[in-house]
Amino acid sequence: MTPIQSNLTEVLHSLNPGVTLVGVSKYHPVEDLQQAYDAGLRDFGENIVQELRTKQPQLPADIRWHFIGHLQTNKVKYIAPYVSLIQSVDSLKLLTEINRQASLHNRTIDYLLQIHVAQEETKFGFLPSECDEMIKSESWRSLHNVRLRGVMCMATNTDDEQRILSDFERAYQFFTHLKQEYFSNNPEFNIRSYGMSDDYPLAIAQHSNMVRIGTRIFGPRQY
Ligand SMILES: *Cc1c(COP(=O)(O)O)cnc(C)c1O
Repeated sequence: MTPIQSNLTEVLHSLNPGVTLVGVSKYHPVEDLQQAYDAGLRDFGENIVQELRTKQPQLPADIRWHFIGHLQTNKVKYIAPYVSLIQSVDSLKLLTEINRQASLHNRTIDYLLQIHVAQEETKFGFLPSECDEMIKSESWRSLHNVRLRGVMCMATNTDDEQRILSDFERAYQFFTHLKQEYFSNNPEFNIRSYGMSDDYPLAIAQHSNMVRIGTRIFGPRQY
């Protein structure tokens, strides 16, 4: 077993049943991804379109690619043919373009709403109130080639566990609110994507069912 494969095994053993592991492979070479694939990993997360475009054709076709970074509208076309889950939808404009590209490829593309729960400034992610507004809009309802699967978020970048827990708790409460308000009859609205290498046990304690783990599997990134 290679170090990547034993890291992967260790992480998998630490997850509760029902929690999906997305291996975040950004900045790591395809050889590293192949090792994780050979040990059974099928869900990979990337955050740069160009990097994903380079890697995707070099790796097995049954990989489920998750896009987890800020996505520019003019780059959606490059990943639309194969992306499995776009986790970082942060505007109706972006979603409209994803829908358009999905329909050009005769696909339905799954996505998550990236919500802003951290107690720090960032440019990306919806405020919870903005999500409600969008979901109630005509334009949102007219998008038939995209399917909302749940929410994604990142906690505040801090060592303060209480603060991280409270960010994740807000994410869970917001997921539950959306579920009850709009998706109670929709079993496919079921993904709560939060938790990374340093905070995923806290995320799982707050009902995460999808963790995105990079460093703990692949080691430090070579920028
Ligand atoms: C890089 C990244 C991760 C993984 O981070 P690690 O600390 O290496 O586990 C998870 N989610 C997003 C959105 C990322 O950009």
